Amino acid sequence: MRRTARRLDTALAGQVLRRAELRVPRVATVDLVGMTVLGTHVVGKHLLTRLQRDDTRWTLHSHLRMDGRWATGPPGPRPGAGPAHQVRVWLVAERAQAVGLRLMEVTVVPTSDEDTLVGHLGPDILDEAWDGGAGARRVAEQGERPVVAALLDQRVISGVGTMWAAELAFAAGVTPYRAAGDVAGLEPALERVRQRMRRAVVDPKRVSRARLNVFERGGRPCLRCATPIRVGRVGPHDRLTYWCPQCQEGPDR
Ligand SMILES: [Zn+2]
Repeated sequence: MRRTARRLDTALAGQVLRRAELRVPRVATVDLVGMTVLGTHVVGKHLLTRLQRDDTRWTLHSHLRMDGRWATGPPGPRPGAGPAHQVRVWLVAERAQAVGLRLMEVTVVPTSDEDTLVGHLGPDILDEAWDGGAGARRVAEQGERPVVAALLDQRVISGVGTMWAAELAFAAGVTPYRAAGDVAGLEPALERVRQRMRRAVVDPKRVSRARLNVFERGGRPCLRCATPIRVGRVGPHDRLTYWCPQCQEGPDR
């Protein structure tokens, strides 16, 4: 998400929109042409692109969900980044354009009302203001809930996806199904994963699959003890998760 936001900022920040098409019925009539793009801010998995015209500030909200993406490139006569029916947003500025494909939750609100979009999210693990002790307490307060389900619930803490939730459980030495309220060392595990996530934002190449202990390594030997990594499903959306039954203690479902 943060890489997407950086890319959008590189393409559009500081420029005036010459063309802006919102191909989503409820906001199709909103006119963003002539607005200056201030920048794109990330809250959890939400992208908030802030715009200004005179004294008024507006926020274009988008969410990538599973397969949405923003493509950027030189301005052109057509979006050109993917099949036309997948284009939800097309923004054209003087020097670049941005095309939002398969975006969800596209809406425009006054910037002062951003809280109505993302106010239900827990603290963002990548935020500068992240408080590790408070974050660990919020996860622990989920009690009997499997720890990985709690980590994936963006209302508890935001920004952790399936990959880092699985790696975090490995770092804490517990299976994904251990009760969230019963994980010793949750705070240091959160901190370790946070540091890895922050490095990954700066340099994506540093998170090659080879550096991951369990994620998407089902059936392959644990890098620490050679026991085959297990795969299961967790949480209300039955997301895939991974763990080593030898290195991680707790229930296996
Ligand atoms: Zn192991």
